[in-house]
Amino acid sequence: MIIGGGPAGLTAAVYLARYHRRVAVFDAGHSRARYIPESHNYPGFPDGVSGETLLANLVAQATRYGVAIVGSTVRSLRQAHPGFRVLHDQGELRARFVLVATGIVDTPPVMDGLDAAIADGLVRYCPVCDAYEATDKRIAVYGSGRDAAAKAKFMRTYSAKVTWLRPSGHDPCAEDLHTVAEAGIAIVNSVDKLQREGPRIRALSGANAYLFDLIYPALGCDVRSRVASDLGAAVTNDGCLKVDEHQRTSIEGLYAAGDVVSDLHQISVATGHAAIAATHIHKSLPPSPRDSSEGATVPSAHSTYDQLHNA
Ligand SMILES: Cc1cc2nc3c(=O)[nH]c(=O)nc-3n(C[C@H](O)[C@H](O)[C@H](O)COP(=O)(O)OP(=O)(O)OC[C@H]3O[C@@H](n4cnc5c(N)ncnc54)[C@H](O)[C@@H]3O)c2cc1C
Repeated sequence: MIIGGGPAGLTAAVYLARYHRRVAVFDAGHSRARYIPESHNYPGFPDGVSGETLLANLVAQATRYGVAIVGSTVRSLRQAHPGFRVLHDQGELRARFVLVATGIVDTPPVMDGLDAAIADGLVRYCPVCDAYEATDKRIAVYGSGRDAAAKAKFMRTYSAKVTWLRPSGHDPCAEDLHTVAEAGIAIVNSVDKLQREGPRIRALSGANAYLFDLIYPALGCDVRSRVASDLGAAVTNDGCLKVDEHQRTSIEGLYAAGDVVSDLHQISVATGHAAIAATHIHKSLPPSPRDSSEGATVPSAHSTYDQLHNA
């Protein structure tokens, strides 16, 4: 049973199905990948690939091998010895192993038309992903804490025109202000409004307005680890699930992959975790040698889900 149908969950499903294991993905349908207008750092796509296309391809690949993808939110897990009882919006089922691939949710800035601005690449969340495409542009980083300062410094690799926008109501940390200024980054304090202005973003601080080609919010994120941490799985200070080299959490039979375990939020990291977790799950299950009477038929998604549901 896989919780989450983003790149991590769907990749693990492909691997497990190709190990001839019965697998179902339960997905609430809010993958971060849906927001990717076009990725240029995911290997194998020299002309770029949109998040929607990548997810559609992963869904097609998983369903080809009989994976059931169920549009339902998992509410809680209970240990069932062996395995788990999984309570979701449409019912309950049992699974020997569970992989949590529930991702994170970025904290958005308050701004009208935010979704369109993300789709147009004016508001971005991931410099590792797309700062290359911001090379030599007027870049703003919006946020108050140490992470925002670090993000602003990171952006200097790409442009000499970087500004750190600090929201109203947050006291500056003298050390951060000093190191950011030393890196040649402009600082604007008390920013109280962000607006879109055609192909640019306007930041207002009192009576002053500043225009940027694009903005990176640095407001933190909500790590979706609760379904596992409620069961007692260990988490880091940032709320990420702790895993070992096989992607095992601190609870036997419970694995985790993707953004929910890593602070390098990347598709290739998520799919790498998924391959490691799926392979370890396969090897941990009892062997399932092929019977000579078994044909090479691939089960339909529904038959796989029905089998699981009735198990
Ligand atoms: C604007 C933007 C641009 C990006 N660009 C790039 C890029 O160019 N290159 C790159 O490598 N990365 C990029 N990323 C990051 C990339 O999208 C993530 O690293 C990747 O999606 C992580 O995959 P995941 O499977 O771990 O999580 P997600 O893709 O977030 O999927 C998690 C899924 O789990 C579901 N879920 C959560 N809780 C539950 C529950 N209780 N029950 C059922 N389902 C649940 C969610 O609804 C979601 O569908 C970008 C991200 C953003 C926001």
